[in-house]
Amino acid sequence: MQPITNIFTLLKVPKTTVIVMHQKPDADAMGSSLGLYHLLQAMDYPVTVISPTNWADWLKWMKGADKVIDYELNTARANEALEKAAWIFCLDFNTLMRTRKMAAPIASSPAVRILIDHHQQPQEEMFAYGISDTSKSSTSEMIFDFIMASGNGDKIHEDIAECLYAGVMTDTGSFRFSSATASVHRMVAGLKDTGLDHSKIHENLFDNFLENRLRFTGHALLNRLEVFYEYNTALICIPWKDLVKFQIRTGDTEGLVNFPLTIQGIKFAALIIDRDEEIKCSFRSKGGFDVNRFARQYFEGGGHINAAGGRSSETLEQTAQRFRASLKENALQLQ
Ligand code: 5GP
Ligand code: MN
Repeated sequence: MQPITNIFTLLKVPKTTVIVMHQKPDADAMGSSLGLYHLLQAMDYPVTVISPTNWADWLKWMKGADKVIDYELNTARANEALEKAAWIFCLDFNTLMRTRKMAAPIASSPAVRILIDHHQQPQEEMFAYGISDTSKSSTSEMIFDFIMASGNGDKIHEDIAECLYAGVMTDTGSFRFSSATASVHRMVAGLKDTGLDHSKIHENLFDNFLENRLRFTGHALLNRLEVFYEYNTALICIPWKDLVKFQIRTGDTEGLVNFPLTIQGIKFAALIIDRDEEIKCSFRSKGGFDVNRFARQYFEGGGHINAAGGRSSETLEQTAQRFRASLKENALQLQ
């Protein structure tokens, strides 16, 4: 993988481009992709954004979100765009596996693949150019850096600012994580100078749910939470029947895993959900407990030190049992 700076001179000539993000995109994946989309459009690129799966309704306010192709819904149109592409930007994921059914067509495409990402252990051999920097708060911050370093800062307008702000704000936990560095705050100041109304973005993202989601959260915290004080750990297990009962949709469980960390002393939180097609796990920690390592070791996943995900092909109860057993093996690190 050559450094991303090597494409700066190539950028001037518009190329047919596809931008891809990880499956079930969050605000950073969608925000960074649409931020780059708006920039490339301003540079006269024919550009298509593809998501491997659907995404949460609360991301639909982003300018350009209505143009994003859902690969599962419009596979033929998406494959056509992939076949025509000279460049494919891969944003906010480290391995092609994170694009699910798109992994094979991306891997076999003759297009130049370019990675911009902040997850650990990227699949560097799959990319011609790229930047992988785990010290970065978000891929949205990296897109901002990319725009500035390539000499395109003058093209940042309000639509780009809104998308990038959504990504950096959510990936830093509203600027509370240590990844919210001075340069992150300087970036936000720059975005504010374009006219960004940041309060509107917070409302769009956090005050935009249906009643059932709030009631589901209450139910999960009251009835599905287990606390293991001896391991400073908490676990929430959600059976499929709960998702049906509360009519839970994509994105509705986002953020639930963070609640147990508000309990005094709790340093490690896990959320295990039976999504019917698979068991999905989310892990969060405070301090030194490395959930990226934990997710890789036990749950076929990965991510960052304090936020990671994974999956399991066992039943919900077997997965929960394996999680409980894993705590004993990690007792020392969890003290
Ligand atoms: P979440 O729990 O919100 O799904 O994911 C937390 C973080 O871990 C995100 O940065 C996400 O991209 C990453 N992540 C989630 N699942 C996986 C996975 O299966 N593999 C890897 N490498 N990263 C994951
Ligand atoms: Mn991210």
